[in-house]
Amino acid sequence: MVLSGKTAVVTGSTSGIGLACATALVGAGANVMLNGFGDPDAIASTVERLSATGARVLHDPADMSKPDEVARLVARAADELGSVDILLNNAGIQHVSPVDTFPVEKWDAILAINLSGAFHAMRAAVPLMRARGWGRIVSTASAHSVVASPNKSAYVAAKHGLLGLTKAVALECARDGITVNCVSPGYVWTPLVEAQIPDTMTSRGLTREQVMNDVLLAAQPTKEFVTPEQVAAMALFLCGDEAKAITGANMVVDGGWTAA
Ligand code: NAD
Repeated sequence: MVLSGKTAVVTGSTSGIGLACATALVGAGANVMLNGFGDPDAIASTVERLSATGARVLHDPADMSKPDEVARLVARAADELGSVDILLNNAGIQHVSPVDTFPVEKWDAILAINLSGAFHAMRAAVPLMRARGWGRIVSTASAHSVVASPNKSAYVAAKHGLLGLTKAVALECARDGITVNCVSPGYVWTPLVEAQIPDTMTSRGLTREQVMNDVLLAAQPTKEFVTPEQVAAMALFLCGDEAKAITGANMVVDGGWTAA
């Protein structure tokens, strides 16, 4: 299999896009360190399900907003699974509010998890990849890495920053066999999107159906949600040898959103 013998760390992989990415990597033969929060029984059954393929799969509950925990997560993957060849920075949160009432602690948390967490993970993983002369770093950015929406100041700032971080590290690693890219989904039907519907209803005075059709899918010309598996397929492609010439790129999977 294409990723046999490789080890991946996938942050925020107990749910949604990260879980789909971890499933795709295991399907391609990789061992995976899962990360993220959630119900312990559900996480245990995910580990069991993915391990049934023969892959080595562990879960670590590191909080991506805590630099020392991020560094420990990467070190643990190297110690217990043998290496860190692939890093998928995927953990992320959202909060929807106008800038003048945006809670400061939400701003700090979004920047810490969605942006600084990726920096700390890259900082820890790049030396391990350099030592082996091969590496793949893929960060789940967003259409919001290139365009904005109102009431998402922290998220848009973090995702624009994540794309800038990706480009800078791609240049630093260009001669090391390491590629560094973003995958930027449009709206994907996951718990993260479900959770922002009530706030958007409140902040814009809309019904649930109006939020889904007139706000979320308004920007997506296909009028269909992207699936987690479609995002995972792009991340998996970027991890393969066919993608070795792609670095510093932003691969949009957004139903045409950023073409408009
Ligand atoms: P999700 O809520 O289903 O999953 C988020 C994951 O991150 C979960 O595993 C959660 O436990 C984990 N997480 C949250 N805070 C964490 C922390 N402090 N430390 C470690 N893990 C943490 O959401 P999703 O939609 O699958 O989002 C995944 C990524 O995709 C995010 O970066 C998000 O910004 C991005 N994204 C999502 C969409 C979308 O429409 N769903 C669109 C574009 C980009």
